[in-house]
Amino acid sequence: MFKSVYIFKVLSAILLLCHSLTGYTQIKRSEFKEPAIEFMNLDSTAKGSLYLEITKKPEAVIKETCFKVCTILYRHINEIPNVETIKYTVSDYDGVSAKDGYPPIIDIAFSSSYLESNFNKTEQDSAKMLNEIIGVLSHELTHAYQWDDGGRYSEIGGVIEGIADAVRTMLGYKDYNSKKPGGSYKDAYSTSAFFFVWIERNIHKDFIYELNQSMLANDSVKWTRQQVKLITGTSVDDLWKQYQQNMHLDTIEI
Ligand SMILES: [Zn+2]
Repeated sequence: MFKSVYIFKVLSAILLLCHSLTGYTQIKRSEFKEPAIEFMNLDSTAKGSLYLEITKKPEAVIKETCFKVCTILYRHINEIPNVETIKYTVSDYDGVSAKDGYPPIIDIAFSSSYLESNFNKTEQDSAKMLNEIIGVLSHELTHAYQWDDGGRYSEIGGVIEGIADAVRTMLGYKDYNSKKPGGSYKDAYSTSAFFFVWIERNIHKDFIYELNQSMLANDSVKWTRQQVKLITGTSVDDLWKQYQQNMHLDTIEI
């Protein structure tokens, strides 16, 4: 009797330790359902073929980035929206990249003009350019997999864009150390993203996951800034003040 109680206590202690060490569940690569990738290059000039030259296997790069994005956005395999197909098109247009559609079919466009001008900016450094391509891709793929509170982009787009760049930052494709004071938490892109990453790293581990979960489509809860307080225990305005004062103390060593 004594022995079984003792074994039970030891096992419980080990389980507790394992849980506190791992923090949260990670999505396993073997369990992840990869989408089918339909890659199209509509630019037959040199800047169009540059995409293929740099990424080598675009389908594999896109699939791998889908998985990486989901490891930040989700904790359980059954939480991941069913993205079955990604139609990825490289073409010559004014812009950078854009996502269209909802699961199961997502369209992503990428500009060959942007690719060419950025490639020249990096003095034709293929490794740097690949980083930029995957960085932009991780932002667009976050849009493919994230929740938007049931199509409320026009109202809370700043936070949604912030999450997309926060995922990019968490994956190492955006320079967290370049953050600067100023702006607002809903300013979108880097301004919101670095703030969300700061909360994740300093205030509430899992923040980005929980922020995305607070935007589920059918939870009958309309997303407001109050959700940040429900997740962290502190209002978004108070967190923003703390962040403005302390952001310089948190940097990532490269
Ligand atoms: Zn975006």
